[in-house]
Amino acid sequence: MAMYKKILIAVDFHGDNEEIIDKGQELARSNGADLYLLHVNESLMIAYASDGMSWSDQVVSLEAEIRKETEKKIAELGKRLELKNENCLIREGKPSSEIHQVCKDEGIDLVVMGTHGQSGFQLLLGSTANSVLHGSPCDVLAVRVGD
Ligand code: AMP
Repeated sequence: MAMYKKILIAVDFHGDNEEIIDKGQELARSNGADLYLLHVNESLMIAYASDGMSWSDQVVSLEAEIRKETEKKIAELGKRLELKNENCLIREGKPSSEIHQVCKDEGIDLVVMGTHGQSGFQLLLGSTANSVLHGSPCDVLAVRVGD
């Protein structure tokens, strides 16, 4: 019996996302579910705002570069997974909040993500995974990565 109709894979593009992608893809296949990808660009402006205005132009252009790079990466990944363009999503903001919001907006019933990104400790949940689990509007599969 199919349990999920819409599955979202959250990709951070920092490290190796392949294990997460494979699990999400397999679950979508076995459930006959629609697959979505999401990457969230975090605002650099917030991080540098307290440093004064001299930083702002550089931060704005760096953010534009990052956005362009993200669009390229998500389009390539979407093509490889044979997804529709409208299922390849980019949002700006805090990753956990945006993941929650996209789940509500798109009616996602399962999020597939890593237990931690590249910088996380192997045995601990990373901060994004932890925050997504708390208050998630749908099921969450935290894939143990990088052993
Ligand atoms: P973290 O909790 O930051 O160590 O990351 C754990 C997992 O959260 C990653 O493996 C991704 O699945 C997801 N994640 C982290 N940052 C982002 C991001 N900026 N956009 C989308 N997903 C993310």
